[in-house]
Amino acid sequence: MRIILFGAPGVGKGTQAKILSSKLNIPHISTGDILRSAIEKKTHLGIEAKKLMDKGELVPDEIMVGIIRDTLKEERSKNGFILDGFPRTVAQAKELDRLLTELNMNPKKIVAVTTDEKEIIKRLTNRKACKNCNYILPLDEIKDNSCPNCGAKDSLYQRSDDKEEVIKKRLEIFNSTTKPVLDYYNENDKVIYVEGTGKIEEISERILSKLT
Ligand code: AMP
Repeated sequence: MRIILFGAPGVGKGTQAKILSSKLNIPHISTGDILRSAIEKKTHLGIEAKKLMDKGELVPDEIMVGIIRDTLKEERSKNGFILDGFPRTVAQAKELDRLLTELNMNPKKIVAVTTDEKEIIKRLTNRKACKNCNYILPLDEIKDNSCPNCGAKDSLYQRSDDKEEVIKKRLEIFNSTTKPVLDYYNENDKVIYVEGTGKIEEISERILSKLT
């Protein structure tokens, strides 16, 4: 199955993608994680991307399309995947369609996770991520700054783009540039809408029941 998980920053795409990935046995491809790993390794891409990500801005389409092209050509993507964080612009969505046709990777399912903006701001300002496995968890579930997912010690940190002023910018860009991707998909594909409020497991059940 090929899934595009769509939604605003902080809606829980990453968390849901990880669960779906293990339940459906297909890789979770997060463009944000790919960029953060490049930042960690201090590659040229990482250094350039960090400047934009720290301001809440998008990395240029050509770079992102190149990353996705390489990733979808990898062996692990052959039997399906969950895309999280891509496409984020209509240009990326069009390129993705071209790429999927070229690689004989149709059909795809588009899942849009929805929730209101107040909830999103609350979640983004109250979460930390694990440096080691990218797991995300709310501050009130943190005990000793160790990751409950992979067990890494002292690995939890606040993402530099989860600061209030950057969050505002990310939401602004989501509304102006990323939301139109949904209109694009609504013209050509069937979009599966899932309410993203509630317990994590309930939301995954909602998604899975609509996928099968
Ligand atoms: P995420 O982890 O998906 O919230 O992504 C974090 C940041 O990485 C975004 O705010 C963007 O700066 C950058 N990024 C991730 N995916 C994309 C994309 N498809 N297009 C442009 N920028 C992206």
